[in-house]
Amino acid sequence: MNNDQQLVIIGGGPVGTGLAVELGLRDISCALVERRKEIQRIPKGQNLMQRTMDHFYCWGLADTLRSARVMPPGYPIGGVTTYGNLMSDYWYVPQQREAVNDFFFQVNERLPQYCMEEVLRDKLKTLPSVETYFGWNAEAIEQADNTVSVSIANVDSQVRDNIEADYVVGCDGGRSMARDAIGIERSGSDFDQKMVLAVFRSKELHERLKRFPERSTYRAMDPNLKGYWQFFGRIDVGEGWFFHAPVPLDTTVENYDFKALIEKAAGFEFECEFDHLSFWDLRIAVAETYQLGRIFIAGDAAHSHPPYGGFGLNNGLEDARNLGWKMAARLKGWGTDKLLASYSEERHPIFKETGENFIAARIEKEGKFFETYNPDEDLEAFLVAWEQKKEGTARLVTTYEPNYEGSSVIDGPVGGVSSAHGEHSFKARAGHHLAPLTLSSGKNVFEELGNDFNLLALDDEMKVAEAFEKAANELNVPLKIIHDTCADDREDYKARYILIRPDHYIVWSGDNEPKDVVQLLEKAVGKCQHLSGMHEIK
Ligand SMILES: Cc1cc2nc3c(=O)[nH]c(=O)nc-3n(C[C@H](O)[C@H](O)[C@H](O)COP(=O)(O)OP(=O)(O)OC[C@H]3O[C@@H](n4cnc5c(N)ncnc54)[C@H](O)[C@@H]3O)c2cc1C
Repeated sequence: MNNDQQLVIIGGGPVGTGLAVELGLRDISCALVERRKEIQRIPKGQNLMQRTMDHFYCWGLADTLRSARVMPPGYPIGGVTTYGNLMSDYWYVPQQREAVNDFFFQVNERLPQYCMEEVLRDKLKTLPSVETYFGWNAEAIEQADNTVSVSIANVDSQVRDNIEADYVVGCDGGRSMARDAIGIERSGSDFDQKMVLAVFRSKELHERLKRFPERSTYRAMDPNLKGYWQFFGRIDVGEGWFFHAPVPLDTTVENYDFKALIEKAAGFEFECEFDHLSFWDLRIAVAETYQLGRIFIAGDAAHSHPPYGGFGLNNGLEDARNLGWKMAARLKGWGTDKLLASYSEERHPIFKETGENFIAARIEKEGKFFETYNPDEDLEAFLVAWEQKKEGTARLVTTYEPNYEGSSVIDGPVGGVSSAHGEHSFKARAGHHLAPLTLSSGKNVFEELGNDFNLLALDDEMKVAEAFEKAANELNVPLKIIHDTCADDREDYKARYILIRPDHYIVWSGDNEPKDVVQLLEKAVGKCQHLSGMHEIK
């Protein structure tokens, strides 16, 4: 094909920029079209899960990102939940994301989304294959057999241009024009509830919250609000805050007393200065598919939802990581259309479940809790249930383990289903992300993994590794072999050989050579239709 670019990315928010970094590092030529010239200074997605930090590590950006942190290093990331308002006698601090730190190479992090976006934008400047169009609006997309064409207009001069590419990815947010252009429908729970997002400064609030152990977020659960949150999040330590809460449907910036709302949730009056006010609708909207022909969608364009639990940005960046290597493999000729189609096949069920089971179900469950238990009516029953509720929050973290056991490009268990629910484990399981391991060199396996496929061979023998090497050469699939004979904790993996994808999900693991290594690799790059449960040669 002879297009201007291999790929056009519409939308240079975190997901579009993350995808551009992933592809730029793989030498794929792409145009990134973003209508805003400057990054929006709203903190939004701050809570970066361990997997997200793994992406930044792979992009060579983990240290830079951590040094862009606004809060002091080590300041606790989790949150406090209170009954009623923040001055309540009833509150708890559940164990949160840090509970699963051991299963990832990188620990979780917290910083305002705009600081993270700056780190990504700076990286783009070092990637010659990425051309940026900041201040350009994508207006229309047309798809033909071998090409997609995107019409763009400069937001200042209104000068128009057209970019021809092999593929387009819409990372253009909840109101995605790319999604609408190809007519992809969305579905999900709609709570018909308007929410306000306020960004403000108050030293007094910081002082009064010293009644709690140091934390980054505070959820004031008003029993009258049907499980909807009144949420305070720190931007820094000392002054900066964001807050979101339900407001009546007809609320505007002019007709409502937001200070009174925040003070009611806090449980006391305090001085504050507002920097920003905006609204969003409390609804979960997941696109029915993330691909139509040569056009893909990712991030909020594919799945939008309330910021309850920090799933949005993290899932969006996982979309970028999942699609990025597959797109590069297809464009370089060693991946197939089937591999590209596995992006939607893998990512869609994860978010469908995340939206309904981890977000909507939580709202409903908490709504019922507050309908049922009231400390003024039956303190004993309330206290027992309150304790159970705290444990339930911790379970939400430990059971959230997105995996692709049912994927057509993974050699998962027979009858495996891709799911957002799972169990964290060190065991190397097909369809799950790789856990960290210290190699005999003292390095972590993540420091040795290459950017493409990897075979981890925890064995003295070369025979199996050689079989993989031969098959990879035959199929032209880039593969790095990592040989290690005496890693201390290799027993945790419960497998001697592990085939790992470029996004660090496991395709296959076993103690012996698979029956047909060529067929296994063909499956991993979408060249093989059948095969499930690749047996080993005993
Ligand atoms: C208060 C709040 C708190 C949040 N907290 C968390 C959290 O803790 N953890 C978490 O994971 N998520 C959180 N989120 C969600 C997170 O902010 C979003 O999921 C994330 O911004 C999605 O990134 P995106 O790149 O997909 O979309 P966006 O950030 O919406 O970016 C889309 C970009 O596309 C551009 N664009 C749109 N249309 C066009 C066009 N036609 N042409 C060119 N450019 C276009 C827009 O200008 C924008 O820059 C929070 C959100 C809010 C509001």
